[in-house]
Amino acid sequence: MNDLTDLTIAESLAKLKAKEISPVELTQAYIKKLDENHKYNAYITLTAEKALQDAHEAEKRYANNTNRSLEGVPLGIKDLFCTKDIKTTACSHILDNFIPQYESTVTQNLLDNGALFLGKLNMDEFAMGGSNETSYFGPVVNPWSKETPLVAGGSSGGSAAAVAAKMCAAATATDTGGSIREPSAFCGVTGIKPTYGRCSRYGIVAFASSLDQAGPICKDVTDCALLLNCMAGYDAKDSTSSKREVPDFSSFIGMDIKGLKIGIPAEYRPDGLNKEVASYWDKAAKILEDCGAEIIHINLPHTKYALPTYYVIAPAEASSNLARYDGVRYGLRVDGNGLDEQYINTRTAGFGAEVKRRILIGTYVLSAGYYDAYYLKAQKVRRLIKNDFDEAFKKCDLILTPTSPVEPFAIGDTKMLENPINMYLNDVFTVSVNLAGLPAMSLPIGLSQHGLPLGMQLIGRAFDEGTIFKAAYHLERGANFVRM
Ligand code: GLN
Repeated sequence: MNDLTDLTIAESLAKLKAKEISPVELTQAYIKKLDENHKYNAYITLTAEKALQDAHEAEKRYANNTNRSLEGVPLGIKDLFCTKDIKTTACSHILDNFIPQYESTVTQNLLDNGALFLGKLNMDEFAMGGSNETSYFGPVVNPWSKETPLVAGGSSGGSAAAVAAKMCAAATATDTGGSIREPSAFCGVTGIKPTYGRCSRYGIVAFASSLDQAGPICKDVTDCALLLNCMAGYDAKDSTSSKREVPDFSSFIGMDIKGLKIGIPAEYRPDGLNKEVASYWDKAAKILEDCGAEIIHINLPHTKYALPTYYVIAPAEASSNLARYDGVRYGLRVDGNGLDEQYINTRTAGFGAEVKRRILIGTYVLSAGYYDAYYLKAQKVRRLIKNDFDEAFKKCDLILTPTSPVEPFAIGDTKMLENPINMYLNDVFTVSVNLAGLPAMSLPIGLSQHGLPLGMQLIGRAFDEGTIFKAAYHLERGANFVRM
């Protein structure tokens, strides 16, 4: 092993426990990678010095055998998670000087398990976007880019790029409509959005509260299980967090999938679907079949309404959540003549174009006279989408789909930027999962003819991440994707 950053978390932990490597060495190796790769713009804030201090503490714990489950593992944290005394910006100008006085539950759980934080990762502003181009700090560059700089996917582009380029052992991320899965697919890494309620949302800057969920982005499936074990769990500070027992996700790794029923939804395969994406989808089904799973054809009839439903509900909740940024209590303040003008000046200067667009759409669909036509209708369709999944899961145990209909595209792609709907269309395979509150993982399946990563998505029943881990492990082995 010439570079410690090539190791997965599972491999690193084995070597740390055997005292073949030290947490300080491991942390230094990641800091070196991070320094070499500033060009990707993955990190917004670095906490490398603190990470090194913590690595020394971790070293002591290994020496006296009080090491915890992620002792000395260097992570990157999406800049949507509040980190005590460390700047947390949501990649927005309105919060670019915000230093939280408290720690999010998910990051606290990771710290309690001995993880170290290398810094805060770039993302789309308030997690609104699919390409990490709406960040106040500029786009993240996909480490797989050839001549033209490509997008890393969004909104957790910094998380996915940092894991791909080995600038951290793994990263935290969040997913409201695909933000863990899409960047994972674009950067050739593995990410899971758990069931809504699995991870506490306490201390995560809110985008759309009924859809937001935290999860890990990692080098492989096994690491996702290890990390999710430490992130998940009931939290009294989030009334939507679940009291369901969190199983040991790692125990599903390597389990047999004979007889497991995998559903392929007809509605996810329109005639115009990208040929390569379609053929990798077939390949993934074949891999699972060869491992003993049974492929069955299912229907999710309301799929065509998923995008419009999501793009009503998510902006509606966003417009309400973002009302708190008024320049009065914290964040940016731009003074004006009286309070109203101060609000206007602050929000005009503080929010970027995409965030303003969402606030406008959200305010519109919630306003008297339009509420019934848009918001209420969207809520009803959301139920129908959920019912589709309930019906499908009577026939199958998992659903297999591509993660994204496209491969990573160029930063500044005019087609995507001149009409925001073109960007929204990329979320076609991911948003229904959030509307239904289900768990789903994206893992790399292979490279396109341009040498760019493509991802596959496995969707499970609510609170059945275990079955996803079971099948994903076999799919990963069959795909034999070579990490960067
Ligand atoms: N691309 C989607 C959006 O812009 C999803 C974002 C997310 O999951 N945070 O809303």
